Amino acid sequence: MESTIDLALNILRRFPLCDSCLGRMFSTLLRGFTNEERGKAIKMAIAMDMLRKMEAGDTEAKKTLEEIAPSLDENFSETLHSAGIERTVASCYICGGALKRWKLLYKEALSELKNSSAESFLVGVTVPRTVEEKEETVVKTFSLLTAESIRSELRREIGKAISASLGIPAEFKSPGAVVQVNIEENRVYVKVNPLFVRGRYIKAGRNISQIRWFDEPEPSDSLSIEKMISILKEVYEKSEIVLHASGREDVDVRMLGSGRPFIIEIKNPKTRRLNLRLVSDLLNRASPYGKFMIDGRGKREDVRTLKMMDSRKLKVYRLIAFSEKSISTEDIEAIVRGLKGTVVRQRTPIRVVKRRADAIRLKKVHDISLAPVGDKAITGLIVADGGLYIKELVSGDVGRTEPSFTSLTGKQMQCIELDVVKVFL
Ligand SMILES: [Zn+2]
Repeated sequence: MESTIDLALNILRRFPLCDSCLGRMFSTLLRGFTNEERGKAIKMAIAMDMLRKMEAGDTEAKKTLEEIAPSLDENFSETLHSAGIERTVASCYICGGALKRWKLLYKEALSELKNSSAESFLVGVTVPRTVEEKEETVVKTFSLLTAESIRSELRREIGKAISASLGIPAEFKSPGAVVQVNIEENRVYVKVNPLFVRGRYIKAGRNISQIRWFDEPEPSDSLSIEKMISILKEVYEKSEIVLHASGREDVDVRMLGSGRPFIIEIKNPKTRRLNLRLVSDLLNRASPYGKFMIDGRGKREDVRTLKMMDSRKLKVYRLIAFSEKSISTEDIEAIVRGLKGTVVRQRTPIRVVKRRADAIRLKKVHDISLAPVGDKAITGLIVADGGLYIKELVSGDVGRTEPSFTSLTGKQMQCIELDVVKVFL
């Protein structure tokens, strides 16, 4: 097996390389050094070897030193001069001698990154295709298994430099900001990742939707939770404010009690500084019908968890049902007996079948307690699986929900008021 020195010599005879690009070809061999240090060490070893051979009268050695002279920088000029070799510097075959400058490009991003208050960052590097192709040529020509890519060197070195300048760590999983270094364009872009705020909302009035009406004209005086949270634009001017909620109640249903869990995503924030107190104050100023409890900062993964947990969560509802015929104590008992602990077969309600797939869902009523209100109305509480449509549990939805208040009493009933009073977390 040829020695590392001989292999490096053969590489340099064919391709002039700067210290970093040469060292990178042997990157996996030695830990604790930079590629630049590796490359420099190899070149020094070669030069000393040749000088020793020249002193011993080896004429080939001078020729060899001449061949690799284009890769030797000004540090070698005195040595080469005294050996009678004229220094003809060529630029590095791979990086054209620009690698050092590329490594400093990140500096343009430092102030923006600092102002963003990002708690961590990730570096992305775009290297011109031509540079990568040249690098591949060198690696393939000498079948080098110990090489690292220029992109990987840049990412690491720039990451180290940013960490050292700002005192924040590089982070792969959920970085606060992404620093994209584009070598081709000679530019750096900082993208600050979204902020997430976890909380619960209370909808204290009716005729408030969760999200804006699709065809809502602007401006409009209709109320929605989504519109209320857009008040955060007062602080995050250029950001998009997005509401993620765990399920949704109908527009005419109040959301009371412990509130419905949600996450607000602030996209493209200029700063990741987040004053939860201020966020809470702003949100609660938006409308007298919306109350917001802030639970803390969130992460992107929390959004998925939030959406997944909805169908599994138990909910407590308070309702008022109305019947056209008088309701007896026996009717109420029949409903409670027929529903308590029962799995209800519910086909997608007629009123939502346009939006949701027509399917049959099995949802359990865990507990129910009812009391008469006058002659034709009852009120009560129901604890049920998330996703059970309560209005149809009352009306029966022409037989699509079974059993129902209607089917258990033989009297057509309607839910005239409904509130969600608790969402179990
Ligand atoms: Zn180079």
